[in-house]
Amino acid sequence: MSSSETATLPYLIIGAGLAGLSCAVRLHENGFPVQVLEKSDGVGGRVRTDQKNGFLLDRGFQVYLDAYPEAGEFLDLEALDLQPFEPGALVWRKGKLREVMDVFRHPSALFSSALQPIGSPIDKLLVAKLRFRLLRKPMEEIWATPEQTTADYLRDFGFSESMIDLFFRGFYGGIFLEDLLVTSSRMFEFTFKMFAEGRATLPARGMQRIPEQLAARLPKGAVETGREITSLESRQVSGNGFHHSGRGVILATDGSSTSALLDRDGSVRWNSTACLYFSTDSPPLARPIIALKGDREGLVNNVSVPTAVSSQYGDKPLVSVSVLGDQRETPDLEEAVRAELRSWFGPSVDHWTHEETYHVRKALPTKTSGHLKPVEKTPEGIYVCGDANTSGSIEGAILSGLRTADHILEESHADPG
Ligand SMILES: Cc1cc2nc3c(=O)[nH]c(=O)nc-3n(C[C@H](O)[C@H](O)[C@H](O)COP(=O)(O)OP(=O)(O)OC[C@H]3O[C@@H](n4cnc5c(N)ncnc54)[C@H](O)[C@@H]3O)c2cc1C
Repeated sequence: MSSSETATLPYLIIGAGLAGLSCAVRLHENGFPVQVLEKSDGVGGRVRTDQKNGFLLDRGFQVYLDAYPEAGEFLDLEALDLQPFEPGALVWRKGKLREVMDVFRHPSALFSSALQPIGSPIDKLLVAKLRFRLLRKPMEEIWATPEQTTADYLRDFGFSESMIDLFFRGFYGGIFLEDLLVTSSRMFEFTFKMFAEGRATLPARGMQRIPEQLAARLPKGAVETGREITSLESRQVSGNGFHHSGRGVILATDGSSTSALLDRDGSVRWNSTACLYFSTDSPPLARPIIALKGDREGLVNNVSVPTAVSSQYGDKPLVSVSVLGDQRETPDLEEAVRAELRSWFGPSVDHWTHEETYHVRKALPTKTSGHLKPVEKTPEGIYVCGDANTSGSIEGAILSGLRTADHILEESHADPG
């Protein structure tokens, strides 16, 4: 095929998660044809929402942090109609739900909060110091700072074990989907900064509105679902019974699929979670706030009521309960969760109706080492993007997709053929 023929072909983007869609939108909006090939039945990858019994059920509890710089610039946040959680949290500790005020933006509130008997006055000053430091630390510097585990980072910063156990394990357990806090300190600094600068939100009509908004910026037919790619080269891809040629190939799959398709050695590690949804007539939390565990024992990591954040999540109260780890083998997970939550919220838990349980084994790439490599091109000339190359987050996926597209645009200006 001549280079002028190749130039009219679309870029082939494998995977319609946030990275693939962002890359496709950026290329399309700069005049390049794109074809997105997605193996599942819809767009969004790990950001999907189901409609069931009148409820919107996100496939795993997740939030959009409205301080994300790259995503915030690229998405139409107004159209997403972001609904905020209250800053702060309720922490389940010693038989009581205790309110912890906005630790990230107003550390001084800790002085009057229920953490008083646990976090020492020094812990509270340290939160203020950390906030001051990270608000001023540029993002690029965060990703270049020598790293350690988050637990070691917090200890080295001077936090007491009780502050780490009471607050950081529950809060960051829900973010990292692991509560040993072995995740890289770079991921900790990144998320702490985002919480200090903004709020945790849900799009009013569910998390999947984010990828749907991106897909709507592409021409009709640019995304084909039900297309699993099984082999690829720098300018062509194929699957069962189909074959596409393109101007270039961008692999925007999750880390495990990327490794398998590129025949790379070594398994990709994942942090897993399960999310259980219940409906009820009397919500356990009447406010848009997240309740966290503050004890090390127990299955439940966090609880929230999405309908208290946005009424469009359901006509009656919906409760979301997150458990860390791969729980597919846990016998009677639903009953185990109910039994635990009975102590948090009382016997009304027995009247909750179970709506759905999502087991998300491949939720977040394990980031014991945090690096930022948004643009990758293999020696064979295949571009690779996705959250495995950045941070396991909406911001990381979008950043990676956009930087990859920008790189391709630069290359095509340098060599228009
Ligand atoms: C339960 C959970 C909670 C989370 N919480 C948060 C949070 O609170 N805040 C936050 O910012 N982030 C959160 N995240 C992380 C965030 O959702 C991800 O980092 C991001 O969505 C990853 O996007 P991606 O495009 O890189 O990958 P993916 O979303 O995995 O997209 C990859 C796509 O490639 C497709 N694919 C794979 N193989 C093939 C193939 N062979 N052929 C064709 N298509 C293929 C997949 O079907 C998928 O659609 C959470 C994730 C989960 C699962």
